[in-house]
Amino acid sequence: MDLKYHCPNCGTSLGYEGLCWKCKSEKERSEVLSWTQEQIAEKQEYLIQNIAGLEDFHDPEFTDFWNLLSYHDAITPQIQRAALAAKVYYPCETYYHAPEDVRDSLIAALLDANNANDAANLMSCLAMQGDDKVLETLLELEQNPRPWRKRLYVDPSVYAECGGWTFDKAGKRIQLNYDICYPLVKGKANEETPVKIGHLREDHCPHCGGNMADILVLDGRDDRLKFLGIDGILTATCCPNCVGFLEDGALNRFTLDGGSQPMPSKLFDGEEEMENYMSDEDYRLLSNHHFVLGEKPVPLFYGASCEDVNTVGGFANWVQDWEYVTCPQCGKDMKYLAQIQWDTLMDGTEGTLYIEVCPDCKIVSMKHQQT
Ligand SMILES: [Zn+2]
Ligand SMILES: [Zn+2]
Ligand SMILES: [Zn+2]
Repeated sequence: MDLKYHCPNCGTSLGYEGLCWKCKSEKERSEVLSWTQEQIAEKQEYLIQNIAGLEDFHDPEFTDFWNLLSYHDAITPQIQRAALAAKVYYPCETYYHAPEDVRDSLIAALLDANNANDAANLMSCLAMQGDDKVLETLLELEQNPRPWRKRLYVDPSVYAECGGWTFDKAGKRIQLNYDICYPLVKGKANEETPVKIGHLREDHCPHCGGNMADILVLDGRDDRLKFLGIDGILTATCCPNCVGFLEDGALNRFTLDGGSQPMPSKLFDGEEEMENYMSDEDYRLLSNHHFVLGEKPVPLFYGASCEDVNTVGGFANWVQDWEYVTCPQCGKDMKYLAQIQWDTLMDGTEGTLYIEVCPDCKIVSMKHQQT
């Protein structure tokens, strides 16, 4: 492609005139973030009047919904009741922490469902509602499977995971995400930050020979990060070239004083060696950006609907299905900690890295997904 143009904002070479996709996305987001209370109320009212369009990805309803949820945390019980009345069960995030009357109607619909697809959608909606009555209902359905269960791949407890929680066989609730979210934002060179990404290490990858990287280093003692309950430093270490080709993702142990020990990893299909696709320029970009932790928390779904924002806590934007890694030491599901969009670091790189942690065993996992 002939890259004869440049993004007027960041200078990236482009094959067309105008802003690059990341600057365009950032501009659109800052417009949405500056909506007034009146504008928000107008969007909410429009969505209520046109709620059926939401399920069909119809615009502007679909875009308005995600803007209201992700950037203003402004999906009201009125919107949830309108969605319910129109039997709109997608996106399931519509029902995040919905009131009890909505929950009870969703439960009644689920218990009435004959078809596996309806049951799956309703379980996802209820997972987003997420209270104890939902847990009881999903537990009962797991213990006494209905006929539709045979046509689904996973149990109700796995559907619960899309709401950021699950339950064990005894019905005990297990939280799988954090209920605070911070974005990483562009700071100044050498600006102090308790979250650093893309630090290159001295050691080399056993598969491709490339540099290992501390892809995320986070200091849990910073006031903003106290919600993580990590009283020290968490380090996530992987080979940025190979992490997308590892069968179980990358895993490492960390110590609160900043230590990190990668655990053995296996490539897909039992391969021993991997070509290193990263150029010197890629390594330079990976380790030379200015992302710092944002000053203030943002809505929990801030990073759940865009491809250009890195976040700590809250909900991820899963490219495929949500995926909680089993801790290799204690066998429990890990907690979702952070997402890094590769393209924010290295131009033209696809996919997202999802970082999870077992705080008890001090083990971190890194999984890559892309379309
Ligand atoms: Zn740009
Ligand atoms: Zn490698
Ligand atoms: Zn563990």
